[in-house]
Amino acid sequence: MPHFKYIRGRYLLMMDVSDTKDKARLPMPADFRLIAGPCSAESPAQLRIVAACLDGLRAQGYPVEAMRAGVWKPRTRPGHFEGYGERALTWLTQIQAEFPLLPVMTEVAEPPHAEACLKAGIDRFWVGARTVSNPFAVQALADSLKGSGLTLRVKNPVSPDLALWIGALERFEKSGLKVEAVHRGFGLYNAAPYRNAPLWELPIELKQRCPGLRVLCDPSHIAGQARYVPEVAQLAVDLEMDGLMVEVHPTPEAALSDAAQQLTPDAFVAFVGQLCFKHCHTTSDRLDMLRHLIDETDRELIAVLARRFDLVRQMGAVKKEENLSVLQLNRWQTVLEQRAGWAEESGLSADFAKALFRCIHAESVDIQK
Ligand code: PEP
Ligand code: MN
Repeated sequence: MPHFKYIRGRYLLMMDVSDTKDKARLPMPADFRLIAGPCSAESPAQLRIVAACLDGLRAQGYPVEAMRAGVWKPRTRPGHFEGYGERALTWLTQIQAEFPLLPVMTEVAEPPHAEACLKAGIDRFWVGARTVSNPFAVQALADSLKGSGLTLRVKNPVSPDLALWIGALERFEKSGLKVEAVHRGFGLYNAAPYRNAPLWELPIELKQRCPGLRVLCDPSHIAGQARYVPEVAQLAVDLEMDGLMVEVHPTPEAALSDAAQQLTPDAFVAFVGQLCFKHCHTTSDRLDMLRHLIDETDRELIAVLARRFDLVRQMGAVKKEENLSVLQLNRWQTVLEQRAGWAEESGLSADFAKALFRCIHAESVDIQK
């Protein structure tokens, strides 16, 4: 039962979640898209090991849609492994024949890639972040696949530019292709501890702007390190993403690309079994109660802010009358440090408090101008 507890001068709502955790756990939905495989196709033996793992999961009832494997690798810098190209394509065809219930998927970046794949009997594609960042490249691919009716998985562009992502989806749709998006994070200068910044608000906004669009998550490229993949994937599931594209390699440490972020088949099987799916389209009394309390708290927050800005206005008038400057750096520095300290005493992060007060302060300065 939810109950209140008096902690640090406040009543907090406490819930015992431990006994509800397993009850809330559901099987992976049948329409969830599970795509996994090595960053790059490196040999028939490598592909066969991963395919056997995925085919085994599929046979157990997991909604494994395809095995991924890169054939042409657009690398950010020259001198890195760029894929085995058409040679690897013959391996994919071979594996597809050996595992008829496990389709194979690869990345296409330009029309000759798509043509070579179709000739080799491979017709599941994703378009990578670097390609999606270039509208000419996207248009060329869209033109070359026009009328094929295929489904393309479209990764987000490297930069956090939602319009560019939507633009690529539109170009493919206009060519009669079906599309699904793949969120793989964004290349920001500092995305620590991950390789790419997830900026979850972008895929969420994409879903809101394009109702009905399925958005998958690629936790491997977000995480950049295998140990972070499960937490990123779980968050994607909690945020109602429609599937996962995960990098899996039999010997990650020896991988020719993205070695740090690939899971072994064993780790992947364990990870899949631990993903926790919850009811997402329904609500519960406890959740309703919490949402109600959050609504009330936010209303109080707004009222407190309104009071603060009222004081700011009065202060602005005094400064004008007494001919004092609006911004006094010493005072502002003290305010910032003091608020950060107060926040820490209340169990909040000092960085969060500083970011919040920088925003409040900017508005205060504006009001007093
Ligand atoms: C990949 O999937 O291996 C890849 C290169 O991805 P991205 O385009 O997201 O960097
Ligand atoms: Mn990769």
